[in-house]
Amino acid sequence: MQDERRPVLSVEEALERILETVRVLEPERVPILEALGRVLAEEVVADRSIPPLPNSAMDGYAVRAADVARVPVRLRVIAEAPAGRLSPVEVTPGTAVRIMTGAPIPAGADTVVPFEHTRVEQDSSCEWVEILRETRPGANVREAGEDVRAGQVVLSPGQVLRPQEIGMLAALGRTEVAVIRRPRVAILATGDEVVPPWETPGPGQIRDANSYTVAAQVRQYGGVPLLLGVARDEETLAREGVRRALAERADLIITSGGVSIGDFDLVKQVLAAEGEMRFWSLNMKPGRPLAFGVVGGVPLVGLPGNPVSAMVATELFVRPALRKMQGFTQWPWPEVRARLTDPITRKDGRRHYLRVRLRETPEGWEATLTGDQGSGILSSLVQADGLAVIPEDVDHLPADSEVRVLLLREYGVRNTE
Ligand code: AMP
Ligand code: MG
Repeated sequence: MQDERRPVLSVEEALERILETVRVLEPERVPILEALGRVLAEEVVADRSIPPLPNSAMDGYAVRAADVARVPVRLRVIAEAPAGRLSPVEVTPGTAVRIMTGAPIPAGADTVVPFEHTRVEQDSSCEWVEILRETRPGANVREAGEDVRAGQVVLSPGQVLRPQEIGMLAALGRTEVAVIRRPRVAILATGDEVVPPWETPGPGQIRDANSYTVAAQVRQYGGVPLLLGVARDEETLAREGVRRALAERADLIITSGGVSIGDFDLVKQVLAAEGEMRFWSLNMKPGRPLAFGVVGGVPLVGLPGNPVSAMVATELFVRPALRKMQGFTQWPWPEVRARLTDPITRKDGRRHYLRVRLRETPEGWEATLTGDQGSGILSSLVQADGLAVIPEDVDHLPADSEVRVLLLREYGVRNTE
């Protein structure tokens, strides 16, 4: 059943419309560990040099290069220089200071000879060190500012903060940093038959899976999910849910269910009544019906109710929206090319996303369908490592054809066979 008033959009057109509607959110200041994986919203300038002073790269002896120009040579050990303080003594001709890695080079010294190239000699009055190997002048000395110079711009707005950037912030004495804030995402399930997971379903009822799949995806992609529960299939209740989302200061509203024709286009009615409605049918499977609009200035994505459709549509449309809102300018899907062991027949001109399990073989990745590809079969996603993409214009594929597979393995390997 196809509603003629609805334009059929391609996945790309739909995504473009969503992305031109969502905006990059404002910055907020957070403790540096909270900034992991987020987009920097300020310039970070070094308050001081790292290292602050010339220091030793090795455990050994700080010497004057001129004293060790010829080896072997014997020098008198006059002090010890531990890390973390300035050496009070000066290295004068014929002397050396025992030095630890990271300790400032004492005045007078310009070279460090590692322990391995020395031999210690003790006599009654003092300690001596014999330098056994030639050492290049300046060897094993780390210059002040060789890592970072005071005043240098170390990190720039727009950068995604990884563990090494978090460490750099700490090294620069920053305990907080400005990053783009996380989007608050209100999630509302709809359906007279849908009950929360903690309730015992009555006859003909099912538990709400979609709110949780979608909330987990929202969290995975950096958003803060706000679970609004389940609204009955009544326009007033769905409208009430959307109002609650606005009261919660949601940056994005996601509903599931109530977008197919059998549901009297519940979400479409809400969008029409409360905001600006754009509605379409997408040229994809699963997930043909998908509503999109703006309510009270907030974008709303109306997902189909079938659990596979809801998750796939969230992956394809909500993930990029969340990434853009958080200041990312790219959101490539991790993907591989794989040999699809199953043949494809009787396609219908739509783009198909098939659930597949991946196996690595000496000839590359091999993909196998995870059984029933019905859009209500959530277990087909539980089994899946990825989504094989079959383009619109392909209506059949022989077994062992090469396909693109979008990976559903953000957390790494499957860990079971
Ligand atoms: P709808 O889009 O509302 O027509 O729903 C399509 C199918 O998805 C129906 O079989 C619903 O029972 C099912 N469904 C709707 N919402 C949910 C949900 N939150 N969790 C699990 N299944 C759902
Ligand atoms: Mg429904």
